[in-house]
Amino acid sequence: MAATTLANSFSKDSTATAIIVPGKPALTVSYQRLAADVGAFQLKLAKLGIKPESAVSIALPNSYEFIVSFIAASWQRAIAAPLNSAYKQSEFEFYIDDLSSAVALVPKGSFAQDGAAVRAARKYKAAIAECYYNGSEVVLDVKDQGKLAGKGNAKVEQAQPDDVALVLHTSGTTGRPKAVPLTHRNLARTMKNIQATYKLTPEDRTLLVMPLFHVHGLLAGFLAPLASGGSVIVPQKFSASEFWKDFNEHKANWYTAVPTIHQILLKNPPPNPKPNIRFIRSCSSPLSPKTFHELEKTFDAPVLEAYAMTEAAHQMTSNPLPPGKRMPGSVGIGQGVEVKILDQDGNEVALGKEAEICIRGENVTKGYLNNPEANKTSFTKGGFFRTGDQGKQDKDGYVIITGRIKELINKGGEKISPIELDNVVAQHPAVAEAVSFALEDEMYGQDVGIAVVLKDGKKLSGAELKKWMADKVAKFKLPKKVFFTDLMPKTATGKIQRRLVAEAMLKREQ
Ligand code: ATP
Ligand code: MG
Repeated sequence: MAATTLANSFSKDSTATAIIVPGKPALTVSYQRLAADVGAFQLKLAKLGIKPESAVSIALPNSYEFIVSFIAASWQRAIAAPLNSAYKQSEFEFYIDDLSSAVALVPKGSFAQDGAAVRAARKYKAAIAECYYNGSEVVLDVKDQGKLAGKGNAKVEQAQPDDVALVLHTSGTTGRPKAVPLTHRNLARTMKNIQATYKLTPEDRTLLVMPLFHVHGLLAGFLAPLASGGSVIVPQKFSASEFWKDFNEHKANWYTAVPTIHQILLKNPPPNPKPNIRFIRSCSSPLSPKTFHELEKTFDAPVLEAYAMTEAAHQMTSNPLPPGKRMPGSVGIGQGVEVKILDQDGNEVALGKEAEICIRGENVTKGYLNNPEANKTSFTKGGFFRTGDQGKQDKDGYVIITGRIKELINKGGEKISPIELDNVVAQHPAVAEAVSFALEDEMYGQDVGIAVVLKDGKKLSGAELKKWMADKVAKFKLPKKVFFTDLMPKTATGKIQRRLVAEAMLKREQ
């Protein structure tokens, strides 16, 4: 039977290694033990009063306790709601209130310290429980029962395919974050798709460097490898100095990350002898062809760029493994997901023409929570989900993203792709990173601004850069203004927010 819930997506009785948490000594957990620890934690959640559809906010960093509480909440027919443990109180309040969370799981010591998540949970009467691994079990130390007081029983539930397993919010790149419910069926489909794309097997070991509170780390870095019977190495967070040590010591053979992390690793390349890397996956933000080539050369491994979003339970397209063709600058082909380029009315455009990238598949959410407005406009008549991204497809189905529809620079009616400009400017030998955005302009409505981070010790002026760009892009795409900066603002998951970059650059000018 095809797996349709998280509970039947991976083995519960294998003695193979599921999880390794690096440390001295490292914690090594088999599939059998993981399932037992999850079962024990389900009972603890039930005793606290967690019922089907209760939201369990998990404000824990990447850790064994995150993994066990996440799987237990979803198996228990509750809704797992991972949160960035580094949020400020107002952010926790937004997410805890949005889902009416029944409980907030926080790290050991948070209650005594009255941490930000604790204060936010108390405000909305969510129960507060410290959650940690004590060397033999994952502890649920309930500090405040909140609205759950007296509601517990001891029934372990069994999740059904169409139960919501997880709610995550979109990154909020283009507006207020939207709550996306994902069912067991949605997640199981993505796990299968990712497993098939990269031919993941029990022999594979991945080093997880993306946070588990985002679909990238959760689905591609953690759930899909588990569904394949492989092993996942889970440090608390990405560290450039620990990366290759962990990679080699625990015999990893692939990893998935955002371009920012790849760029940091290019500056901290693997020591000799180089590890044997089966493939490197890049996702969540555009990977410039320049970085693609540098990565392949330095790490001697195929680089597979993929395209994903929260609403699709992560992956939609990816470049294939060799002997399939990898196309730098393209996010590859649909992977178990139908992809069409549709116009405003939902009609297919001519091959190679740019319009909105739309997708359909068992992985896609049925719709946002509490957001009828967005739900009305997000699906076409044919049931395709509108990604909000603009792009085109070639005859082999390879998708090229040209920008977010909301972020395209509209210069007097000419639509300019910010991604195209980023890629051009990134090729300049003095440039480490470039992000283009719309600048308000009296004459054209919008014009082009570019924020540039220079490589260490390099010098470049705006006029020199414009002159260099002049024979690479049409004149109307040349920037009105170039902003030099030491730091590019990014989200917690390493995504570029063009709106924020623009705001930061303009603010500096004042
Ligand atoms: P919001 O929907 O709240 O504005 P968001 O779209 O950034 O935020 P996510 O669901 O985390 O939230 O990100 C999905 C988006 O990330 C995609 O729609 C796309 O714009 C971008 N993206 C993902 N992978 C790639 C990629 N390989 N290249 C370019 N963009 C990508
Ligand atoms: Mg989005």
